[in-house]
Amino acid sequence: MSLPCLKDHSIDSLRERFQASGIERWRAEQVAGWLYARGVESFDEMTDLSRELRVQLAEQWSLRALEIDAVQRSLDGTLKAALRTRDGARLESVLIPEEARNTLCVSTQVGCPLACSFCATGALGFTRNLTAGEIVDQVCRMREVLGGAAEITNLVFMGMGEPLLNLANLTEAIRLLVHPKAFGLAPRRVTVSTVGVVPQIEELLSVAPIHLAVSLHATTDEVRDVLVPINRQFPLDVLLGELRRLEGVNKRRPVFFEYTLIDGLNDSLEDARRLAPLLHGIPAKVNLIPMNAHDDSEYRAPSPARIDGFLRAVAASGLRVTLRRSRGPDIQAACGQLALRGGHDHAA
Ligand code: SAH
Repeated sequence: MSLPCLKDHSIDSLRERFQASGIERWRAEQVAGWLYARGVESFDEMTDLSRELRVQLAEQWSLRALEIDAVQRSLDGTLKAALRTRDGARLESVLIPEEARNTLCVSTQVGCPLACSFCATGALGFTRNLTAGEIVDQVCRMREVLGGAAEITNLVFMGMGEPLLNLANLTEAIRLLVHPKAFGLAPRRVTVSTVGVVPQIEELLSVAPIHLAVSLHATTDEVRDVLVPINRQFPLDVLLGELRRLEGVNKRRPVFFEYTLIDGLNDSLEDARRLAPLLHGIPAKVNLIPMNAHDDSEYRAPSPARIDGFLRAVAASGLRVTLRRSRGPDIQAACGQLALRGGHDHAA
């Protein structure tokens, strides 16, 4: 039988486990410091632990949750890693280098059960939730790929899967990411993107003052029902009502609304003008993403002129709005393209 993975546990949870097996509670911080702050990958390298303790830990715990299958580098510098779990499930994470930051886009599920009509991950179907260890090990593996050449400064849960359908493992992973003795990321540098699984949002925000991104994509239920089928369960007024109610909870952090622009579907000037009244009362930032085409969808991005017109109309309504430049489309690493295609023949 394989050993439990130590990376599945936040420091608090590890304290309890250590105590139960006769190890001092404070060792949890020490081990986490080695694993996440210093990036070691074996108990043997934890040189300020006694030999006996290292042996005991190695008998009780495994450390590695993921192996790297392949790494692809885009012409724009974006890196996509194809990863494998211990039971052979496959997933992808993407590193997006920008001038002042390096953002890692991590996955929370193998596949996704939500079947959004424009998303390639949705077309894969759902295999299983990732464990907390498999979530944080995506950071460890990408750091290994970078080899000290760059640091991961920001983290977005925008890879494969719906984070809020894997809330327990997601929150355990976030606790490690923001703990000063573990990864030590500032909560504002962590963003969780959701389609809006309404009953789970408040609990997520209670873990740490992270940023919330909401995949909106439409200004009417009629269109959103088609693009994001879970809208039938949590329609716009329910979702936006909850965000309004939680406005004070998340300490002035704006909600990022992602809006994938699809030609002829949600890209009219009426849509653009409906956004501001719809989002009224929510501190909002709108992020426009032109549809990234892929094999599982007929949808296409609008023309540049139409995108520009939409952007201007939203800006004129007083909302903060940005256009997201697509990163890594040549290696199928852009939003909505993660579907485990290729990547084995041109490993970097
Ligand atoms: N399930 C979560 C996390 C995934 S985030 C969520 O949907 O929010 C991935 C983002 O990429 C989402 O905003 C999603 O709507 C967007 N996306 C999916 N397919 C896309 C495509 N083909 N082109 C552009 N954006 C896409």
